[in-house]
Amino acid sequence: MKKFSLILSFFLFTFASQAQQVPSPEAFLGYKVGTRYTRHHKIVAYFNEVAKARPNMVKLEQYGLTNEGRELMVAFVGSPENIQRLDEIRRNNLRLAGVSRDKAAPLLNGAPAIVWLSYNVHGNEPSSSEAALLTLFALTDPSNAATKAWLKNTVVVIDPCINPDGRDRYVNWFNSVVGKDMNADPSSREHSEPWPGGRSNHYNFDLNRDWAWQTQVESQQRLKKYNTWLPQVHVDFHEQGYNAPYYFAPAAEPFHEVITPWQRNFQELIGRNNASYFDKNGWLFFTKESFDLLYPSYGDTYPIYNGAIGMTYEQGGHSRGGLAVVKSDGDTLTLVDRATHHFTTGLSTIETSSKNHEKLMSEFKQYFDDSRSGKTGEYKTYVLTAKDQNKLIPVIKLLEQNGIEWGTLDSKNFRGYNYFSGKEEAFGDEGFHIAVSAYQPKSVMARVLLEPKTVVTDSNTYDITAWSVPYAYGVKAYAVKEKLDLGNSWKVAPVKEVSSSYGLLIPYSSFNAARLLGDLLRSNIKVRFAESPFRYKNKDYERGTLIVLKTGNPENWNAITNAACIKHNIQPELVETGFVDKGFDFGSSSVSTLSGAPKVAMLTGDQVSSLGAGEVWHYFDKILEYPITLINATEMGRMNFKDIHVLIIPDGYIRALSDKATADKLKDFVRNGGKIIALEGAVSQLASDWGLKQKSEKDDEKPAEYADVRKYGERNKGYLSNSIPGAIFKMDLDNTHPLGFGYPDYYYTLKQDGVLYEFMKGGWNVGVLKKDAHVSGVAGAKVKARLKDGMLFGVQGMGSGTVVYFSDNPLFRNFWENGKLIFANAVFLAGQ
Ligand SMILES: [Zn+2]
Repeated sequence: MKKFSLILSFFLFTFASQAQQVPSPEAFLGYKVGTRYTRHHKIVAYFNEVAKARPNMVKLEQYGLTNEGRELMVAFVGSPENIQRLDEIRRNNLRLAGVSRDKAAPLLNGAPAIVWLSYNVHGNEPSSSEAALLTLFALTDPSNAATKAWLKNTVVVIDPCINPDGRDRYVNWFNSVVGKDMNADPSSREHSEPWPGGRSNHYNFDLNRDWAWQTQVESQQRLKKYNTWLPQVHVDFHEQGYNAPYYFAPAAEPFHEVITPWQRNFQELIGRNNASYFDKNGWLFFTKESFDLLYPSYGDTYPIYNGAIGMTYEQGGHSRGGLAVVKSDGDTLTLVDRATHHFTTGLSTIETSSKNHEKLMSEFKQYFDDSRSGKTGEYKTYVLTAKDQNKLIPVIKLLEQNGIEWGTLDSKNFRGYNYFSGKEEAFGDEGFHIAVSAYQPKSVMARVLLEPKTVVTDSNTYDITAWSVPYAYGVKAYAVKEKLDLGNSWKVAPVKEVSSSYGLLIPYSSFNAARLLGDLLRSNIKVRFAESPFRYKNKDYERGTLIVLKTGNPENWNAITNAACIKHNIQPELVETGFVDKGFDFGSSSVSTLSGAPKVAMLTGDQVSSLGAGEVWHYFDKILEYPITLINATEMGRMNFKDIHVLIIPDGYIRALSDKATADKLKDFVRNGGKIIALEGAVSQLASDWGLKQKSEKDDEKPAEYADVRKYGERNKGYLSNSIPGAIFKMDLDNTHPLGFGYPDYYYTLKQDGVLYEFMKGGWNVGVLKKDAHVSGVAGAKVKARLKDGMLFGVQGMGSGTVVYFSDNPLFRNFWENGKLIFANAVFLAGQ
């Protein structure tokens, strides 16, 4: 017995001392960080190991799962005192921002600053997650006196990998192609990653463009967590081309107007501290040249518009960095170097934040005090209105995902800037409305998303310059300079079941109707749709109204249709006779019948844009919830077109289309009744063969005097007159064509290139730009002058089939809500 208990106490003693020892990443992984790529599950395992060894300093929280089932998690790292009161720190922080409902007074004294470090948003910029391992160890290593001191004044939140699916896609690929020794020659295979690359998530979405829109599960789950904390400092770690030196804050122009002097100054403070470490080591870096702060969906701007110091840090390396790569200057850059640099800036940022935590906290509080007192811009209330509540529900979802409060108005007697007419006008209520006040904690974010025009001080930006929600969501709106009183929010009116022995009418005025149509077709319900307006029982119905009749449908048609209406929140209406008061009777041949769900396929693979293909894929899989078959473009020659009804060609360059045999096969597919939907680059690729002509700069345009005498010092500005980094244009839409059903006679398009087509002679020019179509965003003088009198959305008949052209992308990042219906129209209605 005695002997046994001796052994037992020996084990207990060993266990206890091990529990206190924090394993270094090297000891845990079996290799030095940076000498191999660490797969995501090993990163998670290391964080768990450290949390187990230092439960009083590290608290882990899983906040979700990726599309492929990988764990999304954050680690809260702090002094034992702070970790013990972690939730009180969080709640106090929300009270400081004024977003908390609890009534306790917020405490400024003694509140630690929250520093949130996000790693590896782009999966093939992988050095940062390796740096996260080093950072966690440095913060928890008992022998590290410096970090121990910093953690008295800061709570550090580490998200070791925002995009695990993308990271593992890159890392698994790299590990599968690297030899016994890595090869630093940039032309070797391990430096050239295959399509679609690890940058994006499972659906090929760039998560660093998705912070505000939250179309992706990673962003949705992360932002939910983020908004229950609202850190004072946020760093988003990236990599850029391997020849580039390190980039850190301060950022470059253009800055959004809402960014405060304090936010700019603190960026510089952090940058100077980072620089001191880089100087000591002789590492090169640059600041304030590129990486602007405008588009709200980045990992730097989003935190900035939510009261933080948001920053992007960029290490050279990227997917072409491998484990080591020879740069153009002859030096070799290793993964060890890359991870070390990110590790260094991460710690330096914590140091600066800790040393200035009191100022950080008081400025944070001031930021939200100013927000709540409406000091964030000239407009004090934004009012959005629609005939169909289903047009406003997506707006409400967006506001709520971003913690923006909204309500309704009691008094509708006011004037404001009408987004759609561009004039100050009296409010015209469409039936439903919501209002957003500038007097609220999230006032800045509300302004950035809702203001009619974003002021851009310098057009040298690398992303879109216009995204205003009323245009993107197709909802009428007014920006009002007075503070209006907001009342309670409305509740969605529930759908009432309608039992009919003859038929049902379903209004077609939102994207919900298209989703409903897809569901009905998949349930083998035969659906008719009205090509012209009609009047039935003293009520007017618009084009596109869906008509489901008992005739020709399965016995349970009424139950299936009602269930679909309830699911998609559309009130069906009873039909008792096929005789209409005005217009075509339901039995008329002018009422089209859709029978059977069309089989949809899309070309994918390395000849198409991965982002473009991802947008279509995600749209069908997760939004429309309608099956789609993905076919590699390289297989096109062998493809059997027989069972396909709709073929989608996303942006890209399909080599097979230059092959005559394949191009003929495609034409036969259309002539025999098939439908092609071509997007962006695919339109220009089809153009010459299919009779479309791109408009070009006029040859007879007289060049300005001395146009060829350019200043060398201004060489970088020259291209701007021809650039259009994402601007909003008003398109005239033929809403009598099925492609335009459910829309008014206009549509706001996000124009990202100068491409426009001459009007088609034989087809339908459904979406066109006439004169003065520019609404908002940067468009160079030359390109703006050129973008008029031409076609962007068109439908062309060929034999018994159809081609739909979308020269602009209605599914851009899946956030352009108003484009979702027109794409569904292309799939289900156009060309019937
Ligand atoms: Zn990046």
